[in-house]
This record gives sequence, C-alpha cells and structure tokens, in this order.
Amino acid sequence: MESPALASSTEIFATYPAFLPLLTEGETLFSWSARYHRLSGNALARQSSIQLFGDRRAGLRPDFPSHLQQLVEITRGLIGDAETLAYERTLFGFFAPFQNTQGASNVLKQMRGTSVEKVKSALGILPSRVGAFFPLKFCQDCIQDDLKKYSVSRWHLEHQWPSVWICRKHHRMLHALKREYQPRDLRRWLLPEDVTAEEWTGSATSSAVTKSKLLWITELSTHFAQLRGQHFDHQLLRYTYLLRAKEREWLFTDGSVKLALVRQLFLKYYKEMDDIPGFEVVKGVQSEHAGMLGLLMRQFDWRRHPVKHILLIAFLFESVVEFDAVYERVRQVHVQGGTDALEEMVGESWKSELKRLVEVEHKSLSSAASTIGIPLCVAIRVCKQEGIAYQRRSHVVNTVLGEEILEMIIQGLSRVEILQKTGIKKTLLKDLMARKPVLRDAWRIKDFERRRDVYRVNFLELIEQFRGVPIKKLRTVPGNGVSWLYRNDREWLTQNLPCM
Ligand SMILES: [Zn+2]
Repeated sequence: MESPALASSTEIFATYPAFLPLLTEGETLFSWSARYHRLSGNALARQSSIQLFGDRRAGLRPDFPSHLQQLVEITRGLIGDAETLAYERTLFGFFAPFQNTQGASNVLKQMRGTSVEKVKSALGILPSRVGAFFPLKFCQDCIQDDLKKYSVSRWHLEHQWPSVWICRKHHRMLHALKREYQPRDLRRWLLPEDVTAEEWTGSATSSAVTKSKLLWITELSTHFAQLRGQHFDHQLLRYTYLLRAKEREWLFTDGSVKLALVRQLFLKYYKEMDDIPGFEVVKGVQSEHAGMLGLLMRQFDWRRHPVKHILLIAFLFESVVEFDAVYERVRQVHVQGGTDALEEMVGESWKSELKRLVEVEHKSLSSAASTIGIPLCVAIRVCKQEGIAYQRRSHVVNTVLGEEILEMIIQGLSRVEILQKTGIKKTLLKDLMARKPVLRDAWRIKDFERRRDVYRVNFLELIEQFRGVPIKKLRTVPGNGVSWLYRNDREWLTQNLPCM
C-alpha cells in the first residue's frame, strides 16, 4: 500500500536540497517535518508524512515518532541516523538516561520501526501521575527571534521536555498548546506561529524566585537530556539522594530519612509551583507515605518518571557539577564495596555504641535508641542482626538491673528519677511494681509524701513571693500546685493559707 508513496518520495528527493529544509539547532523533528510540509506545498499533512516517513501519520507525532529508519533511508542520512534523531530531536533524549540500557534500546527499536504503540508503557510513563501527555510548548520571544532569523518559527526541543516551563534564553514562561488543540493524527501540521491565543494556556506570571527555580530545573533537564548513551542506575540515584540528604543533616544516624522534615522543606521549596502541569506530583508528598519523596528516597525501583527525579535533584542540589560529583562518588563506592559500602556510607558507626549502652550500661533498648537518635524498630532490627542481647521487658525482673530498680523502689525514689537512672520505660516500671504490691504500696506512700513536701515548699514560696495577692489569683500562676494541695493535703493548706 505504501510502495507508491515511497516511489514518489524517492523522486522528490532526487532533487535534494530543494525540498529538504535545513534541520536547525535545537529544533525538533516534528518542527522540521512541519516546515517541510509548508515548503512542499502539499495540501494534506499525510502526504508530507508519507513523503518523509513512508507513513501517513508517523511524522505527526510530536513526542515519539515512529518510522525513523525509513525516514533516514528516504533522506539518505542527510539529517542524521535514526538513533541521533531520536536522541537529539525527540523526547526520547529526555527519558533515555533514566531507562536502563535494555529499556532504552527497546524504545529506540520501536521508534526506528513502524509502531510506537508500546513506547509509553515501555518508558513506564503510563501509570505515572506525572502523565503521559506532553503538550507542545513555546516561548513567544523565541517565535519572534526565529521569524526574524529564519522567516519561520520552530518548535524548540528543550521547551518540549516535560520538566521545562521557562525559556532559558528569554527567561520567559512557556505557553502550552491546550489539550484539545494538540495535534493528533491531524490534518494540521502546526508551527508555533500558527497557534492562536485561545489555543494556548495562559502563562501565569511567576515570581523571580519561582523563575529562578524553573531555570535551575531547565538547566538540569538540559544536562540530563544530553547524556546520550549514559543510563542512571536507580539504586545509585537513591544513594546519591541519601548522601546529599546526609550532608544536609536530613538523615537519622542509621541512614534513614527524616521524612517529616524533608517533606516540609520540599513542599516549601515547591510552594506555588505545584499547579504547573507535571509538577502536581509535589502535592502527593503530603500523603502518609510522602508520595514521590518516599518512593525515590526509600524504595528501590528503576522506573520513576524523570520529572520526579529532576524535581528531587533540583531540590537537593545546587549545581549540576555538585550532583555529578555525588553520583560519581556513590558509583565508585559501589564499584569498590557494593551495597554494604553504600549503606555504611549513609549510615554511621553507631552500632557499637548501641551494643555498649545495652550490654554494658544495661540501658533498655528504647533508652539506648533514643540516646543514639534512631527509631526503636531500627534498634531492634540491628540487635537481632548483630546478636546484641538486649533486655526484653520480662527478662529485666531477675537481672542486676531488676535488682537495682527494686532497690530504688524501696528507697522511694521518684518515678522520674528511676526512669532516668535506669533508662527503662514507664510501662516496665509499672509492671515491675505490680509484681511486688507490698513494695509498691510502701513506695506510693513515700512518693506521696515526697510530692506533698515539694508542693508545700512550693506553696510557701509562692505566698511569700505574692504577698497580699488573693488565693484566686495565685491559682493562675503557672505551677502553683494549689489544686493538688486542695485535693490531697487540704488540712495543711487551710492552716497555711495567708490571712486576708
Ligand atoms: Zn525564548
């Protein structure tokens, strides 16, 4: 069916360069094809698509066009080979570094071939909340510049990357074609100059701070999109994020993320930017599991939308050089010592301290954990891994520690004192006391007397300090203890009330 078309295109290109426009710097393949269509004088876009791609629709896809091999054959390699076109003239270059080698070559194969139906699912962008819809975007000043320079406007590749919403040259917010006007198997082969005001989304005026962040995101995106043939290892990316977080003191000493803190800072960083198309994922960070933050920093998964990575990298790092350096360091450590070395790098040598606190100082595990600054569950896990014999509640009773606690109870030390000295939990102390009711009752009497004495002294000081002040007013002084005395020591209170 398509052979007649091929024949006709061969004839056309026999007269090259008359009909083959120059592929200009930073221009997308879609843009170049649209300009070809304009020059060709063809009435229908599909005629031009057939002449270039050997397919009636292939060239009309602005994101991931198919039939690239055929295009290269038809143009006799004059605009580059299929792989270069995919990397440098389509959205593929933006997604490729975040794919593994196999995933990237799978997508390339589809783009070279005749069907790109499975490209988006291969890239893992269908289930993503960032979305698989990429509106055509443009800068109004760039249109003017291009019209002056080329007498025609162009779609700039850099503007099409899903994380880019500002023009680096003009510092102007980009406009996007509204979804309903997005070319999709259509008759119209759009160039930016053809877009009318009602067809594009209004560009929100952004603050200088937001603009500088968007420029930073654009710089990062540009850097990544040029990493042809390089693929990030998602596990190493995760450690890169963790190491950077550690430098910023956003990790607990065991290497886990202080998620509540990081979440708050992340949301603050992207305040007023979470309505930008594709950046809505920022909102998900408010959820229980911290959305993309949790996914990127806590879980291993090789397939996350590049926009998510870029948003996190922009938040964590201040320059491309800095990011590259940390990633390279992580890569080196991994080469030399594997995942264990990476764990060691983000964590700290606190395990021996845990062992000492628990085994030598007989601290409870929770007390040791809070002394070190790690969650209890991590302490339990490590004790099990390292064979540290920590004392479980029921085991305390017949140990040296148990004896010590009993002695303190007999002496009538306050609850606070006992807990501080032993590092045990309140509930454990309660349990221990429940096992010795006689001791407990004796302790309660002593405890009551001690507290009562404290309240009495406190009260006498209070009325001395506020001489002549009515008792009603004294009750408003913080820590006055009058209510306690009224409930528990009324006789004494009545005797000692100041004469009015
Ligand atoms: Zn511009």
